[in-house]
This record gives sequence, C-alpha cells and structure tokens, in this order.
Amino acid sequence: MDAEDKMRFLFALRQRGVMDTRVLEAMEKIDRGAFVTGVFSERAYEDMPLPISCGQTISQPSVVGIMTQALEVETRHKVLEIGTGSGYQAAVLSLLARRVYTVDRHKRLVAQAQKVFDELSLTNITALAADGTRGFPEQAPFDRILITAAAEDPPGPLLEELKVGGIMVVPVGQSDTVQVLIKVTRTESGFDYDELRQVRFVPLVEGMAPE
Ligand code: SAH
Repeated sequence: MDAEDKMRFLFALRQRGVMDTRVLEAMEKIDRGAFVTGVFSERAYEDMPLPISCGQTISQPSVVGIMTQALEVETRHKVLEIGTGSGYQAAVLSLLARRVYTVDRHKRLVAQAQKVFDELSLTNITALAADGTRGFPEQAPFDRILITAAAEDPPGPLLEELKVGGIMVVPVGQSDTVQVLIKVTRTESGFDYDELRQVRFVPLVEGMAPE
C-alpha cells in the first residue's frame, strides 16, 4: 500500500464513521492487499467488498472498521470470529486482542487465511475449519464474539459462549434482504440489543461446506 493509497483508505474509514484510534491504527498496519488475490488485488484499498474463493466475499473496509469499533476490544480479550473468509477481519482483531479464534465452514478459506497469518507473523490467531453456528465450546467463554455472516437470529450456542459483560456483533436478517448490524451485550440477567446500521453480508449457513 503506497502513501496515497493509505491516505485515501484511512480517509474513507473516517468519513464512514470509524473514529476509534486503535481500530484505525490496526487497519493502517494490516495490508488488505495481502488478503485479496487475482484480478481484484488492485482494488484492495477501495472501500468496497470484493470476491474471494468459495463464492464468498471480503467485507468492505469501512464495515470491518465499524464492526471492530462496536466490539470495543481490549488487549486482554479473547475474541471469537465466525466467518474467517479471507482472514482480513481476524488479522485486524489480532492487533487489538490477546487471542483470536476464527472459524469458517470452508476448509480451503481457512487454509488460505492461515498462510497469510503465517506470512505476516500474526501468531495469536487460531484458525479452524468448523461450523460456527455451534460456536467454539472448547475455548468458551469469550470476551467478544464477531459474526461476519448474516444470521436470522443471533445463534443460541454463541450467545451462551459470551461472558457476562461481553459483547457480540452480528448482522441479523434474511439473506438478500436488508440486514441490520446488532450489538448484543450480555448482562447479569440477560442480553441487551442495540441496532447499529444496515449492512449486507453473505448468509451464515449451517454445517461444513462440501469439499
Ligand atoms: N470476515 C471475512 C469475511 C466473511 S464472509 C473477511 O474478513 O474476509 C462470510 C464467511 O462466513 C464466509 O467465508 C463463509 O464461508 C462463512 N460462514 C458462513 N456460514 C458459516 C458457518 N456456519 N460457520 C463458519 N463459517 C461460516
């Protein structure tokens, strides 16, 4: 990313409401170009979603920024991401949290993302091929959970894996219609729900993807 790309990239993030300094710094450090391959790589620094393998997409940078900001990640946190995709979001989270677990139902995406994590020496990310609708019970509970695919409702097993005081950010809605980004906070007595903004994500699909 050259200086001009970087300036434009950060400007677009701020313009769309990403204000958190730590989030902006992390997104400045993680080169989105490393997570986009082939013909789309030259558009890596534009504020738009782009196609990746397995018919999935790498999210729009400003949406990554807004979701990360809403998650209020602290350096001691253990974070779970559902929907590794390219690995870009997990990489951004890895600079903010103590440990990031990320799962995807496509083995191939997990393998590709792992390769980039290794190249960038991001050693505090554990990437796993698994069905994220069941959460990640072996490592639960989590301080923060980010779901980067649209669910009809926040999945029950994932809500259960959230610590009290923990935050989950999840796009909710039917695929191909309008989805709303929801911030869920677990309290002593239940869950608080805040609607953040409209978004559009690929759907959260149950089960592993066929090879
Ligand atoms: N966070 C990614 C973009 C995610 S795209 C990035 O930074 O590039 C959504 C991803 O969710 C896709 O890769 C899709 O395979 C995955 N996904 C959908 N349903 C899933 C499920 N049940 N478990 C795990 N991953 C799932």
